[in-house]
Amino acid sequence: MEKKYLIGNWKMYKTTKEAIAFMQQLLPTLEAIDTGSLGVFLAPSFVHLSDMAKLIDRKGPIQLVAQNCHHEAEGAFTGEVSAAMLSTIKVSGVLIGHSERRMYQKEDNSLLAKKVKRVLKTGMQPFLCCGESLEDRKNGKHKTIVKQQLQESLCGMTPDEVAKLAVAYEPVWAIGTGEVASLDIITEMHYFIRQTLLEAYGGSIKVPILYGGSCNPQNAAAIFSAPNVAGGLIGGASLQVDSFIQLVKILLEKANDKAH
Ligand code: PEP
Repeated sequence: MEKKYLIGNWKMYKTTKEAIAFMQQLLPTLEAIDTGSLGVFLAPSFVHLSDMAKLIDRKGPIQLVAQNCHHEAEGAFTGEVSAAMLSTIKVSGVLIGHSERRMYQKEDNSLLAKKVKRVLKTGMQPFLCCGESLEDRKNGKHKTIVKQQLQESLCGMTPDEVAKLAVAYEPVWAIGTGEVASLDIITEMHYFIRQTLLEAYGGSIKVPILYGGSCNPQNAAAIFSAPNVAGGLIGGASLQVDSFIQLVKILLEKANDKAH
């Protein structure tokens, strides 16, 4: 059965006190639900990772993801955080190429390829984000852009390496806007991403493809039922414990449905 993922991206929200309180409220609920084979992750600010890591177990129901890392192993890079620093404090994955980093930090595909390699080398899972802008979509370039993002960000990687990552399709116009992509668009783009990866890396590769963009407890059941959707990358709706738990439950129900 394909593993399902739910990742809460907290962006630049929450103080350490709030982050710890969230985790303390979330943990007993998750333990009671029995999340089975779901991969449930939170991606808080770097500042909170170490405190939150102290509350979790590597085999427990929730794991930590960082929102970014540097592509070099170490060095004179003031203000940066290395992959090794993260992996040694129980962080198990890193978001790479979120559209906000592409937009505000001008991260391009060739830099992202270096980050993907660095994260893999450190033994963590890269969650590679891709997705077109509204302008790309209006110009009918959505597939070209997403294909280019995948090809260039995975440049030089072997099928074995690619098999270790997950991709998140996040149309930029749907992130934080309340304008979720339609099921037709999600189905079309996830199929397209699946085919692009199969053509490049062969038939045995089944990279999980998550959807992100204004996904919430009201629309998640339909999104998580769509073909080739292996879960969600969630921004706004991951900031409250209740809505995050609702999303976990919805994904778990879908995972169990598909298993029967
Ligand atoms: C995100 O930040 O990756 C995201 C999908 O945000 P939101 O759910 O708020 O659209």
